[in-house]
Amino acid sequence: MGLHIQAKRSQTKLVVITLLLLIAGAAHQTCLAAARNEIEIPDIPGYRTLKCDFHIHTVFSDGAVWPTVRVEEAWQEGLDAIAITDHIEYSPHKNDVRPSCDRPYEIARPAAQDKGLILIRGAEITRDMPPGHLNAIFLKDASRLDVNDWRDAVKAAIDQNAFVFWNHPGWIEQAPNEVPVWYPQHTELLEKGWLHGIEAVNEYSYYPLVKKWGLEKDLTLLGNSDVHDPICLAYDQCSGEHRTMTLVFAKEKTEQSIKEALFAKRTAIYHKNLLIGRAQYLKPIFDQSVRIINPQVTLRGQGMVNLMVNNRSQIDFELVTDKALNEIYTPRRVTLARDRTVMVGITAKKGAAGGTKEIRIPYTVKNLLVESDEGLHIELPVTVTIIPSEAK
Ligand SMILES: [Zn+2]
Ligand SMILES: [Zn+2]
Repeated sequence: MGLHIQAKRSQTKLVVITLLLLIAGAAHQTCLAAARNEIEIPDIPGYRTLKCDFHIHTVFSDGAVWPTVRVEEAWQEGLDAIAITDHIEYSPHKNDVRPSCDRPYEIARPAAQDKGLILIRGAEITRDMPPGHLNAIFLKDASRLDVNDWRDAVKAAIDQNAFVFWNHPGWIEQAPNEVPVWYPQHTELLEKGWLHGIEAVNEYSYYPLVKKWGLEKDLTLLGNSDVHDPICLAYDQCSGEHRTMTLVFAKEKTEQSIKEALFAKRTAIYHKNLLIGRAQYLKPIFDQSVRIINPQVTLRGQGMVNLMVNNRSQIDFELVTDKALNEIYTPRRVTLARDRTVMVGITAKKGAAGGTKEIRIPYTVKNLLVESDEGLHIELPVTVTIIPSEAK
């Protein structure tokens, strides 16, 4: 009997231990499972919104990661396309990894095909300032950029119909006090048609002056991670951080379509909780993300009514206004939280005339940085019926 009880106790213990192990195992599995996050930024009319990173390093230059791992990281984070752009002229691991400018692409390609991730062949032309560092993507043969003169390297990229952009113009190693300087060599590249884009954001750094140059000189605006470490060491993804990336508004999800969109300058930069780019693309992103669930409301007397405003994107839109409307009071600040419906209270002004009116409530979205660094101007359209308090 005593033995039986002991055996039963052992059995119970075993069951408990097994359950704990199963739970631990399940949790472990959840962490390791190859699951893809979806980046919730909507398409815009006529175009797919593709999430891309065109500046990534591997062990084949000064990165710490094997090329196939870059593919896995990008797929899990929810990206649609990447370019691996190892330094042509700088390969500190060359005694451990045999350097070849085209090897990282060749190694990563089967993994990318398996995952449906678009992999673009690229390289980083790595020179002192000026001209600094330039990425060339959509290459056919990266090794042809391995030449002495930087002009010959850029020409070798242009001869392959590559898209060329200036990396991190405000990088402290090449720009004293992180103030970017535009040199005559950049004018030369621009005038030859050899410079197509510019990184207004590199990794964690946003250069407002570079955004201004990009708009003035009609260049494609890019933001990339320039990641060297494993992505999870560079960004705290468990806390919801994402890498800096370029949104490309492409007709289709293909490499050719991305190339066409880059040359047509249809991009925006997604950096922290900011979108940076031309208003013609950021406005439709806002419009596709935000919807007023009850766009027709009735205001009785001085009572408040809530507009229910839904934001289906993963960006918190920060709205501010200093404009007063004639008929109604509106809040000066509203945060349209990501993936939420937010109440925006409005009240009729004393003495407002009765009747039904279309009112467009003006706001500036502070974290959508367009041509003006103040933010994108938008309007929330509502139909308001005002029933004044009965005159006494
Ligand atoms: Zn660089
Ligand atoms: Zn780089």
